[in-house]
Amino acid sequence: MLLGRKVCAVLETARDLFFPLHCAGCGSALKSGWLCLACSEELKPVQRPRCDTCSQPFSGAMDHFVCVNCRGRAFHFECAVAVMQSRGVLRDLIHRLKYNGELWLAEPLGDLLEQGLDDERLEGEVFDAVVPVPLHPLRRREREFNQAEILGRELARRRGWPFSDVLQRTRYTVTQTHFDRRRRMQNLRDAFTIRQNVAVQGKHLLLVDDVLTTGSTLDECSRVLLEAGAQSVRALTVARG
Ligand SMILES: [Zn+2]
Ligand SMILES: [Zn+2]
Repeated sequence: MLLGRKVCAVLETARDLFFPLHCAGCGSALKSGWLCLACSEELKPVQRPRCDTCSQPFSGAMDHFVCVNCRGRAFHFECAVAVMQSRGVLRDLIHRLKYNGELWLAEPLGDLLEQGLDDERLEGEVFDAVVPVPLHPLRRREREFNQAEILGRELARRRGWPFSDVLQRTRYTVTQTHFDRRRRMQNLRDAFTIRQNVAVQGKHLLLVDDVLTTGSTLDECSRVLLEAGAQSVRALTVARG
């Protein structure tokens, strides 16, 4: 009995050495999961009321709502679902994945991304392929990976859907957060091309990125995918900026 318990303790210590359970947000010790209570309370889901098209949260009593950014605008994607608001601990985790190369965060962030598939706009959809928003090769070389690809692969693996890194970024674009819509579209024109039309023809695609900000990048990627013959494109991101 005692020996058994000792063996258990040794095994536990060994497990803790190799798989220490610590909160991904603040580093405090955990029994299970990947975020402590305080950090998980910082996660703010994007829920109604929010823009039906781009998931922009909205304070008000309306149930169905289209925001100013989307009003009168025809997007190429069917919908863009973002799971959590980009703030606090989540913004920090995405930042650490992207700029510190903490690739292990793909798993917890993949958990969140997968939650997005329960959104009513995506629920029950079966996708022929998961397509990541590409990074320009220069930026990819500098970062050594594409966070959208890491997240997309994780989701594809979980669902058993094919992963198709079929888009490429052919123009190095500057950060466009502060541009108005017209300048964003100009900035993105011809930024993406498709590697292989045959990979998307007639297919229902799920486009994946880490953060949705204005929807312009997802829109331009969707346009290119549809032009190459895709049947439909829906977009999913971990966070809404
Ligand atoms: Zn914590
Ligand atoms: Zn919107």
